[in-house]
Amino acid sequence: MKFDIITIFPQLFDSFKNEALISRAQVKKIISINTHNLRDWTTDNHKTVDDRPYGGGAGMVMMVEPIAKAVKALTKFKIKSEKRKIILFSPKGRKFDQAMARKYSKLNQLIMICGRYEGIDERVAKYIADDEISIGDYVLFGGEIPAMVVMEAVTRLLPGAVGKQKSIEDESFKKVCGIEKEMMERYLEYPHYTRPEEINIGGKKRMVPKVLLSGNHKKIEEWRRKNSKNG
Ligand code: SAH
Repeated sequence: MKFDIITIFPQLFDSFKNEALISRAQVKKIISINTHNLRDWTTDNHKTVDDRPYGGGAGMVMMVEPIAKAVKALTKFKIKSEKRKIILFSPKGRKFDQAMARKYSKLNQLIMICGRYEGIDERVAKYIADDEISIGDYVLFGGEIPAMVVMEAVTRLLPGAVGKQKSIEDESFKKVCGIEKEMMERYLEYPHYTRPEEINIGGKKRMVPKVLLSGNHKKIEEWRRKNSKNG
């Protein structure tokens, strides 16, 4: 999977790229993360990427032209392809979820366009991007954190990226009996505990549920099913 990110803050991805599992997935050539500075596709001395909105109003709007040029370069001028999606981040986009992450994990390339300022000239959403995505109902400064969210969610679905395949098969939002997400109640995973068995929090002894220490796998499974949602 090739992630191409178009942004005016490529350096925001430096530490993200070096995080343990994301870094390992790159070393194992499961993914590559390529940041592209949008300003490289500007033509004026100031490397301008934004302009005032037509019709007036507060703030600045990201211009379509540098984005169109960047996308053209990254798709080698073949904008449409089965194995690639061009994603634009926006609070008005479709809410990102595990089913979308699963679909994206089948592709070869994801090009992500990160907005800043008041937003992006609407022609990018209409004529360039395949999907317009929101990561939740709140407003951020930019699309860079949403891009990291999508990359993490997609990467951990790629074979070999997570140590144990079982840990992603058994997880929240998994498909239940192969039924599509739209038709089922959402599965949410059971709670996890690890050492110590007992800890003092605010003067009270807080214990790990006894059944998890019992070694009785049938009982443990039963407890986990009861304590997950729609398991
Ligand atoms: N004026 C816009 C907000 C712009 S925020 C509005 O009222 O909707 C600037 C950029 O941050 C956006 O263009 C988008 O790329 C990104 N962004 C902000 N919040 C986001 C969210 N919840 N999901 C995805 N992208 C978001």
